[in-house]
Order: sequence, then structure tokens, then C-alpha cells
Amino acid sequence: MMRQPDLVELVKSYDPAADEAVLNRAYVYSMKAHGAQLRESGDPYFSHPVEVAGLLAQMKLDTASVATGLLHDTVEDTVATLDDIEIRFGPEIARLVDGVTKLSRLELQSDQSKQAENFRKLVLAMSEDIRVLLVKLADRLHNMQTLRFVKNEEKRRRIARETMDIYAPLAERIGMHRMKDQLEDLAFAELYPDARSSVTARLGFLRAKGGDIVARITGELTRKLAEGGLPDAAVSGREKSAYSIWRKMQRKDVPFEQLADIMAFRVLVDDVGQCYHALGVIHSAYHVVPGRFKDYISTPKPNNYRSLHTGVLGPERQRIEMQIRTRDMHEIAELGVAAHWLYKQESGRTDGPQYRWLRELVDILEHSSAEEFLEHTKLEMFQDQVFAFTPKGELIALPRGATPVDFAYAVHSQIGDTCVGAKINGRLLPLRTELVNGDQVEIVTSKNQTPSPTWERFVVTGKARARIRRYIRTQQRAQYLDLGKAIVQKAFRQEGRDFSERPLQAVLTRLNCATTEDLYVAVGEGNLTGREVVNTAFPPEPDSDKDKVVPLSRARRRSGGKENAVSIRGLIPGMALHFAGCCHPLPGDRIVGIVTTGKGVTIHTIDCDTLETFNDEPERWIDVAWSSDEAEAIHVGRINVTIANEPGNLGSLTTTIGKQGGNISNLKITNRSQDFFEIMVDIEVGDLKQLSTIIAALRATPVINSVERARG
Ligand code: MN
Repeated sequence: MMRQPDLVELVKSYDPAADEAVLNRAYVYSMKAHGAQLRESGDPYFSHPVEVAGLLAQMKLDTASVATGLLHDTVEDTVATLDDIEIRFGPEIARLVDGVTKLSRLELQSDQSKQAENFRKLVLAMSEDIRVLLVKLADRLHNMQTLRFVKNEEKRRRIARETMDIYAPLAERIGMHRMKDQLEDLAFAELYPDARSSVTARLGFLRAKGGDIVARITGELTRKLAEGGLPDAAVSGREKSAYSIWRKMQRKDVPFEQLADIMAFRVLVDDVGQCYHALGVIHSAYHVVPGRFKDYISTPKPNNYRSLHTGVLGPERQRIEMQIRTRDMHEIAELGVAAHWLYKQESGRTDGPQYRWLRELVDILEHSSAEEFLEHTKLEMFQDQVFAFTPKGELIALPRGATPVDFAYAVHSQIGDTCVGAKINGRLLPLRTELVNGDQVEIVTSKNQTPSPTWERFVVTGKARARIRRYIRTQQRAQYLDLGKAIVQKAFRQEGRDFSERPLQAVLTRLNCATTEDLYVAVGEGNLTGREVVNTAFPPEPDSDKDKVVPLSRARRRSGGKENAVSIRGLIPGMALHFAGCCHPLPGDRIVGIVTTGKGVTIHTIDCDTLETFNDEPERWIDVAWSSDEAEAIHVGRINVTIANEPGNLGSLTTTIGKQGGNISNLKITNRSQDFFEIMVDIEVGDLKQLSTIIAALRATPVINSVERARG
């Protein structure tokens, strides 16, 4: 285990300005917190955070990262709290420790490998500061280095699998190739011990047979480059990692013997010009393997990797892989984002266009507050996404702002269509709740549920929106169709004719409709009136026109009979049918419908004052009646109350309404004087009878001066 002074000295060696005191305190704090805890190896637990801190120091990270390495398991595994850490080490380190703790709690619950990509994105999205991810990777590397001490085989395999699927690719994505190779090789040893030992043995055999072939080729390449005018080029060679050889054998389905290029050589030079110079020397000295040349200097990889790659038949007629790059490019390729702390101290080396990315980071670091720095080092590519788990551990990726309804539709259309509620992390929460990273979401469904138009207001995914709209359109059309048919039938009767579809079919083209169904829908939507339809089907005699129209007064008188009534059963409020806001009709009220262009039908009470405005348009009136369904639904009744302005009176008002089973949905003081309040109250009730009971109860309350139902 690394001793305290050694760790501090190591950090000081690359960062003379490092805060020694913080490192010393973190070392002692962690040692005390972990106390007598032991690892499975029998070592003191404390050796683990110290090794992690050591790995971070080898990556030349800043003081806060190294201190976080020392402290990273204290909150999860000891009595230490985050508050405690913040008090002792400040908000920056506390935030980093918190980030690592949260990452450690994540566990890939499903072993489906298609989930790996989403899980990696989740880890990235949760690593709001890149240093959180670096500490987590160092933590994982040390756990992998000591994996053999874990006794439970299943656990070992799970950790190795997770390392292979999640952490090695993450290390690669942020450009840390050395870390990636180490993680991969350790996981390979656990997951495929036989494959690894046979590949390793085979490599050993070749090495023995060829003598020190790597050294010979290295020497030969160095000489060729010097002759070509590059005496300072540094050549190094290595066998490829056992895992990458094995993967190639699998991918290309070739046996080991035919696997040509098991060696890779690297040429390091001083600048970009020399890279192409070296490439020219190599290509003129050896045969080029076609299709292997790649120029990642002119076109860097997305993670900013820059290098020239080529393959040649080398000095001993072996196929070898070559990478040619500058020393600076190499540092970045090996250390990835970690390199920027290094460059911060040697700012003279950050010149040149190839450092744009590093310079931006360093610039942000030097010219902005800690807050802004965190903001910018967020891995922005996933900040617009949110990842949530199904109860089975499947990970669903959604756009930021997504709700359980989006989640439900993402899982399956059927689940979306029938969802009635959602349990988020075990708690039942509203469907409009915004999901956050790592939420576990269980959708509650009911066979009787159908998509609600109100969902459209809060869903953010295209899939959810499209399904909801499609459903509403279909529903709406069915409703307009029923309504339009009833209106046309009524128009026939008013003209004294028996209803039949035949005369309608004859005039479809004149009315611009393809089918009779379309015609009914047009009438239901209010784009055509019943009277227009009848008059087109049976053109009236020029003079007798007026006599045939049933005057409004008579129509209304006749409407007492139920036989003419359009059932409003099954219509969804807010679509083909509205309840008027002026009179708030309730089941039990006598009602009448008014057709409004493009909006369907508005229901008013028969004595509503607003109806006066439609007196001249009899064709817009239709008879409607409550269906039994409608009586079961909740309706809003509106009353106006005058109440004495005294303490407690408002309380008696609400209590009285509540006792009668009314639920106040809105309450507004419309007028306030010295002595009285005038209040408008909206009450959810089942029907007129319930509202009447409430009104009677209010009238019986002494402090209430008057109660009237609102009328228009
Ligand atoms: Mn740990």
C-alpha cells in the first residue's frame, strides 16, 4: 500500500502547486472512516482507496480528483456523510464524491448486451464532471486488479462482464487507451480464462521461435527512418493484447496461425510534417498492405484521437501494423482527457491547431468559475437525454423532459394506450411527472383505459404524440359521424320527409363529400348544416321555402319529447361536444345543443341567457338528452354565493359543500366589500340533484346570505 508521504510526493512531482494539506487530511479521514474494515483479500479496506488515489496520481490528475479517490467509498460504506465531507473538504470534493457514489449505486440489472450502449450513456450523463468518471474508472481498474480475491464466481463474472461491456468502452470513448487495454485484459482473464491462456501460450511460442523479433524489427525501422532523415524518431513495438488478437480471431473467423499482424509498431516524431515524412520513408522501404492506411490526423476520430495508421510487410516479411504520430498526440491518445491537467502546467506545449479541443478546456478552466467549468465539462452529448429502467432492468432512453406516458409508449404502444398510472421508484406519481436519470418506472395499465387528449400537453416523444393524435382523430371522426347523422335525420323530419340515404348519395359530389359517412362527419363538425344537406337533396320551390322551415319557437316547444333527442352518450368532453361555460349544465338539467362550425356541439341549459344569441339560426339547434353514462361522470356546477365578511365564514362555506359530497374545483372572490364577499364557486358533482342539495344546505347556513346557480 502506498504510504501517505509517497502519494503526496507523487502528486507534487507533476503539480508543485498541489494542496498538500487537503491530501493529508483526506488520507487520514479515509483511514479512520474505513477503520478495521477488510477486503475479501484480507487486506485492510483502506488499501483500496489509497490504490485508487495512486492510479489517479499516475494519470497526473488534480488534487481534488486524488482526494476524491481517497474518499470515494466513505459515504457508501462507512458512517461518514456527504455533509461531513463538504464541511471538511469543501463543496468541490463533496460534489465529486457524491457523483462517484451515485455511479457506484448503478448496476446493470439486465445482462442483455443491447442494453450496454444505453447503460454507457447513462453513466456518461450522470458523470456531470469528467473527473467523476475518471475516479470511477480508476476504482474499477483497482477492483479488477484484485478481482481474483472475490470468492463468489457469479459476482466475479458479473463484474468482469460489466467491465467489458461498460467501463472499457467508456475509457476508450474518452480517449484513455491504456486504461481500456488494462480493463479489457483483466476482464478477458476472468471471462475466458482458457482462450486467454491459449492465445498467451501461442504468443510465447512464436516469441521463442522468432527470437527477439520485436526488438529486431524495432532496430531495423529506427535505422531506416534515420537514413530517411529522421534520426530523432522513436520506434517502439509490442505484441497486440491477447484480447484484441482473440477478438480478431472471432470476428474474422481465422485460426491463430493465419492471423498475420500480431505485432504493432509505433513511431513518435516531433511535428505533423515529420509524421507524413516518416510515412513516406516506411512506404518506400516496405510493401504496403492494401486498405490499411488511415489518416486520423487530417480527420481525427470523434474522441479526438489523431494518428496515421498503416500496414506493411515488414523487414522479416511479417505483416505489421504501424502507427505514426507526434509525441503530443501520443500523450493524448494514452491519457485521453486526463492529459489536459498535464497541459495546463506546460501551457507552452498547447500551441498548434491539434490542441484546439484541449485549449478550449484549459481556457474554460482558467477563465471561468468552478460552476461554469462544471457546466462545460459536462459530457454534453447526453445532456439532452434521460435514461430510465423498466422493472425488469431494461434501460429506456428518452429525450429530456419525458414523462411516464412517453416511457410507456417507448416500451410498447399497447402499454402506452392503456396506461392509467406510474410508480416511479416505487411511489405512485402523476403521469405528467418528469423522469430523471436512473428512475425505475413501473407503468400501471387498465384494459378500459384509452389515450387521453390531455396527455398530448405533456408528452415529448414523437411516438407518444403520434399514437395519441391518431387515437383522438379516430374517436373524433366516429363521434362527428354519429352526431352528423342525427342532425341530418332531424333535418329530414323538420322538412316533413322520411329519412333515407338514397337522396344523399345523389348529391355527394355537389356537397364535396366522397361518401355518406364523410357527409355526416362534415355535418357533425359543423362544416355543413342539416338544412343545407336537405335543401341540396330536395331543392325547395322558390316561394314555399320559408313555410317549410320549422320556426325556432315551435322547435323548442317540441323538444320536450325524448324521441328527437341526440344521445350525448360516450362523447369525450372537449372534442365533438362541449359543456357551455356560461351555464354549466348538469345531468338532470334540461339541455339543448348548439352546433358551432369546426367545434361540434356546445351544450347549454334550456334557460341559459346565451341561447338568445342563436334565436335567428334555428338550423344550429339540436335536441340532446343525458345518457345514463353521462349521469355517472363528474360535472362541474357553478354557483354564486354572497357571504358575510367575518372570520370563519369561508370555512363554513367549504365545510358545508364538503359534507354534501361536493368537491370544490375552483373558487374566486368576484366582489369584496366591507360587509360581504361575493364568491363564485365551481363544484364537482354527479348531477343536478346533488348540486340542488348543496344549494339547499348552503341556504340553511346562517352566515350565508344568498346562493344562486350561475346562469350565463
Ligand atoms: Mn471503490
